[in-house]
Amino acid sequence: MSDSEMKLNGVSRDEKRRWTDAEVRYLSAHRADGSYLIAHVLKRTPLSVRVKAARLHISLDRKPMKVCPICGTYFVRDNKAGRYGMCQVCWERRKADAMRERAAERAAQRDYDNAKHRKNTGGA
Ligand SMILES: [Zn+2]
Repeated sequence: MSDSEMKLNGVSRDEKRRWTDAEVRYLSAHRADGSYLIAHVLKRTPLSVRVKAARLHISLDRKPMKVCPICGTYFVRDNKAGRYGMCQVCWERRKADAMRERAAERAAQRDYDNAKHRKNTGGA
């Protein structure tokens, strides 16, 4: 720990601000960004981020990251399985698309069932 980091210790009101679940999730998902970037986004001090990460046994070691092949904008964070190499933004969008697709499938299935029912009962 450097001298400037030591000075932050003790004066930081930031230390006393409770971490919300959303912040903890962000810290966990973005661990590869390192404490400075995470601190900037969460409006905390890098020390606060490092202390919290240590308590959660999360390593903030920087690793080389790939840019998302879908949007080409955001980094792919590989700490969660099952995202098919997408960034978090594309992943959330994909989930929303999948839910809309499911709703559309259900509506289409209802249409089909109604049409079949009408046919089977000799209506129209
Ligand atoms: Zn993306």
